Amino acid sequence: MLALEMVRSVPKTMLSKAAGGRIPMLLTGLAAPLRMVTLDPPRVERPGWARLRVRLSGICGSDLGMLSGKTSLYFSAVVSLPFVPGHEVVAELLEDCDDLPAGTRVVVDPVLACAARGVEPCQACARGESNRCSRITVGDVSPGLQTGFCHDTGGGWSEQLVAHRSQLHPVPEGLSDEQALLAEPVACAVHTALRAAIRPGDRVLVSGAGAVGLLATLALRELTDAGEILIVAKHAHQRELARDFGATEVVGPDEVLRRVRRATGAFQLQPEYGAPYLLGGVDVAIDAVGSPGSLETCLHATRAGGRVVLSGMPAKADLSAASLRELEVVGTYASAHRDDAFETALRLVGHDAVARMSKTIATYPLHRWREALDHAHSAGRLGTVKVAFDPRRQS
Ligand SMILES: [Zn+2]
Repeated sequence: MLALEMVRSVPKTMLSKAAGGRIPMLLTGLAAPLRMVTLDPPRVERPGWARLRVRLSGICGSDLGMLSGKTSLYFSAVVSLPFVPGHEVVAELLEDCDDLPAGTRVVVDPVLACAARGVEPCQACARGESNRCSRITVGDVSPGLQTGFCHDTGGGWSEQLVAHRSQLHPVPEGLSDEQALLAEPVACAVHTALRAAIRPGDRVLVSGAGAVGLLATLALRELTDAGEILIVAKHAHQRELARDFGATEVVGPDEVLRRVRRATGAFQLQPEYGAPYLLGGVDVAIDAVGSPGSLETCLHATRAGGRVVLSGMPAKADLSAASLRELEVVGTYASAHRDDAFETALRLVGHDAVARMSKTIATYPLHRWREALDHAHSAGRLGTVKVAFDPRRQS
């Protein structure tokens, strides 16, 4: 079968030396850590595992971070090289999988927790917190926090992969493949909304209006009693979409503090060096970008005792505001079995705004991976929210 394979990790230092900090070159140039190969389809001969044929597999910000060397080396211990990326997957079963017959169309919860690994549940898994599993390096398959980072399972950027029954959610009839493809990112957004622990009327700032920010906004609006939701959007098409997803107000990156100050009656301070910050501000801020600038905005625009939720890729930041203003900085990762996030997500992808978004997904055959990654990297600027591979396509 054809597959795209990640062959080595790319340390940050190599990025700056090789490409002068320009990401697209390393993503797709001669030094790219990805290559197209012909592989034997993966197999895991253990109970509950089955082979799947990929219909669509998305390109996520975390994939781009990994391919461009932006990802922290922290992750290098929880992947197994070489691996086939792709953790946003719509596929069909090539064989029966427990109660699911061959041919069933499914989406994959990528987390490879105790159930999939065939080991006794760790404390987190016993509580249904599969995304907090502490056994992600042991058991029936090689280390890998998720499908798409694990050598043995394969990933979505190929014609086939294997998955465990505990990872599979049948797609209801009536949903398109494109809508189903958004179930994984929506499940993450559902988890983010839960981690935000919104109280009725809370004022929320969402920094970033790519897929992560828009879907987090939708989940906040649909699943919580949030009051005003201000979203930071850089590009024109994001500004148009944001209101459909439930944002009350859309602000540009340069006007966030001023708009939050006005909305909340906060005071703005200007330190001797560095960025201004507020005394007062929103109750909860969600960083849906994961850049140092976005995280700083969240830390600086949140009231004392408020919460900052990390929903993008991890970024470095000056944590003075978190200390001085007693902020609760909360991580989010994937979604938990306990919360039925995929069931909720498969319902939310029927929402008008998500259905419309699904119709704008740009798809590529595997062999045009360089174009696909360049497109995904420039998606915000080009007016695209999601780029995906369709391994069934030949051209
Ligand atoms: Zn576990």
